Amino acid sequence: MLTGMSPRRSTEKSVLALTFDDGPSPWTIEILDLLAEHGARATFFVLGANIAGRESTLRRAIAEGHQLGLHSWSHPHLPDLSPGEVRDEMFRTQTAIERATGTVARFWRPPYFEADEHVRRALAGTELIEVGCSIAPEDYHWSALQTAAYVVERLEPGAIVDLHDGQPENSGSDPTRTATVAALELILAELEKRDLRSAPVSEFPLSALEK
Ligand SMILES: [Zn+2]
Repeated sequence: MLTGMSPRRSTEKSVLALTFDDGPSPWTIEILDLLAEHGARATFFVLGANIAGRESTLRRAIAEGHQLGLHSWSHPHLPDLSPGEVRDEMFRTQTAIERATGTVARFWRPPYFEADEHVRRALAGTELIEVGCSIAPEDYHWSALQTAAYVVERLEPGAIVDLHDGQPENSGSDPTRTATVAALELILAELEKRDLRSAPVSEFPLSALEK
């Protein structure tokens, strides 16, 4: 339901951003369920290669007020690519998201947080907005309790929390995101306790996104 969810700037002191990389995956659905239960909205940095067959998950995310961003097509090390390849990784993914949801993703996050001047120059003038993070647990390797403890210890207004709802092909990380889902449940409970709320990155001032 998009009604009543028109974009607004989060200038309040109590807002932070939960973000998820590497999806969509079967765990994205569980994450959407939890976010809905808690009235939290998040940002999903999507891998183009993971979209086929999961278009309805992306449509649901949009319908429930979440933001979709680009995380490349195939999760490469972007500094190793030519400028044309960097743009192709992003715009192929942008097109796939637009085909699936009718929305144009404007935010992007580099795989491994690897963006150098070469990568940024390749995307200069494209209107894409890079999003960093301030709290990055290794939820893909850790137990739910480890991830939740790490995040909860660092929670503060304006924080950008980086979690993972899927995985790149051949990543070698935990093949499930069950631990991330369980960690999210603990984190959402803590947010409520502290009167903090999660909003999509589009509601933050641009200067707050370069962590
Ligand atoms: Zn990633």
